[in-house]
Amino acid sequence: MAYNPKEIEPRWQKYWEKEGFYNSVSDPSLPKYYVLEMFPYPSGKLHMGHMRVYSIGDVLARFLRMRGYNVIHPMGWDAFGLPAENAAIEHRVSPARWTVQNIKHMKTQQRRLGLSYDWAREVTTCSPEYYRWTQWLFLLLYRRGLAYKKKAFVNWCPACQTVLANEQVEGGRCWRCSAEVEPRELDQWFLRITDYAERLLNDLSLLEDWPEKVKVMQENWIGRSEGAEVVFKVRELPEIELTTFTTRPDTLYGVTFMALALEHPLLPRLVKGTEYEQKLSRFAARVRKESSTGLAAADAPKLGMFTGRHAINPINGQAVPVLASNYVVMGYGTGAVMGVPAHDQRDFLFARQHRLPVKVVIQPPGENLRGETLAGAYEGAGIMDSSGLYNGLPNEQGKIRITERLQELGAGKFNISYHLRDWLISRQRYWGAPIPIIYCKRCGTVPVPEEQLPVQLPEEVELTGDRMPPLSHYRSFMETSCPQCGGKARREADTMDTFICSSWYFLRYTSPQLADRPFDLQEADYWMPVDQYIGGIEHAVLHLLYARFITKVLYDAGLIKVQEPFKRLLAQGMVNKDGAKMSKSRGNVVTPDQIVERYGADTGRLFILFAAPPEKDLDWNDQGVEGCFRFLKRVWRLVEQGVPRAGAGEDCAAPGEAGQELTRSIHGTIKKVTQDIEERFNFNTAISAIMELVNEIYAYRQRTGDRLSLPVYREALTITVRLLAPFVPHLAEEAWRKLGYQNSVHLQPWPGYREEALQVEQVEVVVQINGKVRGHITVPVGCPDQDLMEAALNNQRISSLLKGKQIVKKITVPDRLVNIVAR
Ligand SMILES: [Zn+2]
Ligand SMILES: [Zn+2]
Repeated sequence: MAYNPKEIEPRWQKYWEKEGFYNSVSDPSLPKYYVLEMFPYPSGKLHMGHMRVYSIGDVLARFLRMRGYNVIHPMGWDAFGLPAENAAIEHRVSPARWTVQNIKHMKTQQRRLGLSYDWAREVTTCSPEYYRWTQWLFLLLYRRGLAYKKKAFVNWCPACQTVLANEQVEGGRCWRCSAEVEPRELDQWFLRITDYAERLLNDLSLLEDWPEKVKVMQENWIGRSEGAEVVFKVRELPEIELTTFTTRPDTLYGVTFMALALEHPLLPRLVKGTEYEQKLSRFAARVRKESSTGLAAADAPKLGMFTGRHAINPINGQAVPVLASNYVVMGYGTGAVMGVPAHDQRDFLFARQHRLPVKVVIQPPGENLRGETLAGAYEGAGIMDSSGLYNGLPNEQGKIRITERLQELGAGKFNISYHLRDWLISRQRYWGAPIPIIYCKRCGTVPVPEEQLPVQLPEEVELTGDRMPPLSHYRSFMETSCPQCGGKARREADTMDTFICSSWYFLRYTSPQLADRPFDLQEADYWMPVDQYIGGIEHAVLHLLYARFITKVLYDAGLIKVQEPFKRLLAQGMVNKDGAKMSKSRGNVVTPDQIVERYGADTGRLFILFAAPPEKDLDWNDQGVEGCFRFLKRVWRLVEQGVPRAGAGEDCAAPGEAGQELTRSIHGTIKKVTQDIEERFNFNTAISAIMELVNEIYAYRQRTGDRLSLPVYREALTITVRLLAPFVPHLAEEAWRKLGYQNSVHLQPWPGYREEALQVEQVEVVVQINGKVRGHITVPVGCPDQDLMEAALNNQRISSLLKGKQIVKKITVPDRLVNIVAR
């Protein structure tokens, strides 16, 4: 019978599911292992990237089950978000229905890949049973002072009609549609992730099994810098103080201007009632226009406007002009920059453009720079100059001395600044978890009581795309009564960023059906942390940082015992074809469906795992797929031929030289495959080792004909099938039954190897002391001199005879003799 995956695969998929093979139950007597692939957005179709990440996770899950672990391997859907809403506007289908259809389709696709998910644990973030607890999490954050609302400028994409996080703005444009992003002032909900900046940074050191690259990206994103806060008073309006942060307090004497972001909250007060008030609004309009001319934000001209006010430098009392400028961003730092053009390149460019003075206050060793002739900022270390009392000090000392002085003056302090901003979770859209807040005229902002959760998202909302947020126009949702006073009240119309849904889903998997709590403490305690998390590098900063933050909050609330959610992380590479990312426009897309249709899931899985180590990019290659298919057919033929009946005489059971060699290969392969999977995730080299073993089995049959050793041959076949089981689960299952076993191959233990079977042929070597035979040692043939001598010296009898003696000479004759001359 020919290898027919189309018949085999669905049959076993049904069987495994019916028998509940992959259901996981917590059991404190067993070691657990949590394998998790980042759950997908239900876009409607699986692509090769999905197939890759799931294949990696599935091999691990299956391997670890065979290794005796109690494995949890769940799957679910990150089901809220913009695409569903856009599809709804475009095709007039409700986001809920669109999403449910997509999930159904993708789940069918996943099932066809033979993935060992525990479907009883499936979670869908857009179902009320799930988002009820996302809302609960929001209330927990609110109670702990970690969720707050404020008016803020946000990045607004006019095309998507949505707020974008800073990290979703690429070069001033929307990451989704490339439209120019505009600033817009709105009431926004934020999560105070900055309170956790220090811990998020420090605890990266606990994550030993995370890729260094990802840790560096998180470190940079958190962006800790040490420096000083400096307070400048406004000369004309002494009650106004402008606070700025600098990492270079040593350059304070070099300040020649102060620049404020256009959104700086004090800016309107500075110009109020002066001729500059009008000018400022014209200036702001001009900046907005300039920034929509299509230039990326980084290249946009740095515009500046004098405000008519001066800031007083607290260290020397000097007044410098205050400018409004688009080169300061309110989102970062304090929105105010003390301009030190001689020692900061951005300040330098701005100063030259606006004819502001440049004053050198740090001299590089042995040089004498002058502001008028400077070609660029000098940002290095040096000796302080033109800095009053501090002249002649090395600048690093100056940083401390000047900050101490500011502290004495009450005009500053040592401070640490983070690049990390609070997490903006308002999206002004519909398809998300409603924020469980009620506004009452009498009581103000009132959280929805927990027992009233979920605040249900109405499913049949007409979406047009021009009324944001859509819920605000939906009366039956908006109108409610105040939980405190019972009076008329309105609901919050905004929904949450989907990153909140995905910041705790790994906990929900531990008790997915629980109706009265988000997760069971004991279940979470048993299964957490995730032992191996697998997903794309594009989530290196946001999702992983948010999940770490929420985990720490839950830890602080005493709800879980782990401080970090993901013990090990693997960021898989991309799937390319012909050297480029698969994309419709390039016409180089291969889909999992096509592969399953043509070759079966096993071939597709095998190729994906064989073609590259998981963290490297993979180049799709049709010949490679063919090669994997041919290999599986070769395995199939071996199994079909079966183990010949012992007929011609039982004496053929004696292994002989060829049999010993094959035994050595079998155990060598077990050892290599085990280590490759377990220690390095080198599935590709593990697979090629199995391929070699299959070659040797064929060679053995040819060499021995019908004189083969039945026990050795049988071992060779059964081990091959067991080693293949995690990679090609269907074929392995079918082959296992063909070999005559009643039970599933996936319930077998992972084969162990016999160390002694790995030994090559042994010889006995004579050990002499001073020419007299004193013992014998057994060593592998061809044992190197040094190892031979070591084996002799380690021999108990020899070492006791040598006790107290001095070795004068050591002689070895390979495979024959060791002679030790001693006195
Ligand atoms: Zn957009
Ligand atoms: Zn009230």
